[in-house]
Amino acid sequence: MLVTERGLYCAEGDFFIDPVRPVARAVITHAHSDHARGGHEYCLCSESSLPLLHNRLSSVGRYETLPLGQSLKIKDCILTFFPAGHILGSVQVRIETASGTTVVTGDHNFTHKHAAAEPYESVRCHTFITECTFGLPIYNWPDPNWSLQKSCAGGSATANPIIPQSFMLILWGKPNVCYIC
Ligand SMILES: [Zn+2]
Repeated sequence: MLVTERGLYCAEGDFFIDPVRPVARAVITHAHSDHARGGHEYCLCSESSLPLLHNRLSSVGRYETLPLGQSLKIKDCILTFFPAGHILGSVQVRIETASGTTVVTGDHNFTHKHAAAEPYESVRCHTFITECTFGLPIYNWPDPNWSLQKSCAGGSATANPIIPQSFMLILWGKPNVCYIC
């Protein structure tokens, strides 16, 4: 895997994963806007991501879907999608080549608490590449259950209409753990 100005590039398969600029062949991990962008000639995604991508992106030449767990040979590699547990259709991309097995995931969530996503599945590999937006040691997050209880304590839809709406919105937001009050 190579880091290029268009994003992460798999030379053995001649495709980019979640490219930041238009490319000929893109593999998209999930439909969030910081991973799925338009302008690609071809886009490979999970089956359950397709309606979301259709809805969000208007300028993709052609889509192809790949069922979870089913492998696809692309040039000199074999690509397989596994659920990432982040949002509906989010996947980890396993790439098997002669030099080893790499798993690339955009965002992932192994707590199985997301209301809509297919449950995360662990995948054996030699190299694991993941997004880590808030992974720097400067971030220190409280226990998610404590946050939920604090946010919802005494707050109902009538007492504070902002709280339930916020929790619904993060279905499409960045946090890896989603709660619905
Ligand atoms: Zn995301």
